[in-house]
Amino acid sequence: MFPGVWSFKGYFDLVDYKVVHDQYRNVFRYILQLSDRSESSNVEKKKLEHSRLIPSEVKREVWKRDGGECVICGDNKNLHFDHDLPFSRGGTSLSTKNVRLLCMKHNLQKSDKIE
Ligand SMILES: [Zn+2]
Repeated sequence: MFPGVWSFKGYFDLVDYKVVHDQYRNVFRYILQLSDRSESSNVEKKKLEHSRLIPSEVKREVWKRDGGECVICGDNKNLHFDHDLPFSRGGTSLSTKNVRLLCMKHNLQKSDKIE
């Protein structure tokens, strides 16, 4: 019929079909939709990259690097893992370069400045 038409690279999902009457015969019309299977797995990956959660390996490394104390004042109580570039501005949780230890005080001061 249409050679090559099915060689389209990609997944189709058959979402519906209907029977169309023309004058002479019944025609099945298939409704195909380009499957978003591969796309949605990319979305999953993106979500992971943009997770606010800091993976435990990153935390361990940051803790070791910063010596278990606030990088500003050296306090070792009430420490928080802080995103250097805020998560809301696209900062990643996956790189130790963007994560540091701050005490609660400096963590709060920093968020004051941002807002
Ligand atoms: Zn501090």
